[in-house]
Amino acid sequence: MSKFTEEKPEVMPRPVDLDLIAQGVRLILEGIGEDLERPGLVDTPTRVAEMFAELTSGMREDPTQHVVPLPGDKHDEMVIVKDISIASMCEHHLAPFVGKCHIAYIPKQGRILGISKLARLAETFSRRLQLQERLTTDIANTLFEGLKPLGVMVVIEAEHTCMTLRGVRKADAKTVTSAVLGGFRSDPRTRAEAMALIKGKE
Ligand SMILES: [Zn+2]
Repeated sequence: MSKFTEEKPEVMPRPVDLDLIAQGVRLILEGIGEDLERPGLVDTPTRVAEMFAELTSGMREDPTQHVVPLPGDKHDEMVIVKDISIASMCEHHLAPFVGKCHIAYIPKQGRILGISKLARLAETFSRRLQLQERLTTDIANTLFEGLKPLGVMVVIEAEHTCMTLRGVRKADAKTVTSAVLGGFRSDPRTRAEAMALIKGKE
């Protein structure tokens, strides 16, 4: 379990400096030889700065706030939430990667989480500079530690624009990552059952 947990102190980053980002965008535009005064580009630095603020808003949120069990509700069977849309940004290229996140868990002592909380958890972690592998384990670890279920499995399928738009240009190539904890790890049959449900087969 511990090998999946990254040791990092929870330090809240400083607020976004929109002016500083806009300066950087101006430098990029200059660097590629653009005319900063061209009407189409006049507001681009500010717009891009606001977009970056939004796409990294998860850096300034505490993901554990979403992991609060529903009071009163008790459920002991496997829960699977499929096809949570995620949009994140690859930290190596600052290029978006978009895809679907599937979360499965087996509740312990009936503790379950509202479906929207699972989506919010995935969103908080995806709105950061990420690697798909880390995004997957961050979601799984936070859910495992906060809800204390019997098992957690997170699968993410995503298309990386840094791969599909440039370099090897593998259009439509999907990267699939998974993080498997607790009962899903120790019991291959449970894991296979969850994987089959995620893939839409019974
Ligand atoms: Zn990349």
